[in-house]
Amino acid sequence: MRRPYLAANWKMNKTVSEAEAFLGDFIQQLPDADADVVVCPPFTALGPAVEACEGSQVRIAAQNMHEAGSGAFTGEVSAQMLSELGVSAVVLGHSERRQYFGETDEALARKLVSAFDAGLEPILCVGESEAERDAGDTAAVLTRQIEADLAEIGNDRLASVVIAYEPIWAIGTGRTATTEQAQEACAQIRELVAARSPEAAEAVRILYGGSMKPGNAGELIAQPDVDGGLVGGASLDPADFVAIVEAAVA
Ligand code: PEP
Repeated sequence: MRRPYLAANWKMNKTVSEAEAFLGDFIQQLPDADADVVVCPPFTALGPAVEACEGSQVRIAAQNMHEAGSGAFTGEVSAQMLSELGVSAVVLGHSERRQYFGETDEALARKLVSAFDAGLEPILCVGESEAERDAGDTAAVLTRQIEADLAEIGNDRLASVVIAYEPIWAIGTGRTATTEQAQEACAQIRELVAARSPEAAEAVRILYGGSMKPGNAGELIAQPDVDGGLVGGASLDPADFVAIVEAAVA
């Protein structure tokens, strides 16, 4: 049995005071859930968010980081800087970062190593565009991304990566993948991990992301290879994200 994993990707939303208000409400409403519950605020709110979650089961993740430990990389933040704040995880390779900021699989492979070395749990995002799906290339895209992004980490670390399958056409569009599409892609990702380590494949958490809402989270996460969700829009409202956590553990 894999423990459900729910992560709230706030993207570039919420100031410090808005983040604190959300977390106060959210923690109050959240039932004791046998699940990993992770919130990913923007960089500016990470420190206050870690403080707001002290004594609760909610953990804080960043949305990105640089692969180097320090140096002349204006505007960037390192893994060590995040872990010193009490941040425990980091989203890597979100499609918006791949699309708008030129994030490459080669850089991601190095970022995974730096994240682990600093004690951060990587939440690696992969997924195909609409054109790639229409061309029948979904499996090839997932294979390329998973093989390249996990290339630099040893098999002993594979089970500790959290992998989010996020079809780009479903992110922020209101178009959710069907349960069959989500299951098929997550099962394929598990097979790719199994090709390196069958034990890691049994343990690794694979999430679905793309217009997940309280009304569809339960059936998506009930799929045998879907272990949770990476939630964008619906995670900005505390009651909706609580409902998604509840649906995942029901
Ligand atoms: C995301 O940002 O990772 C995401 C899945 O967004 P949304 O839930 O809004 O589609």
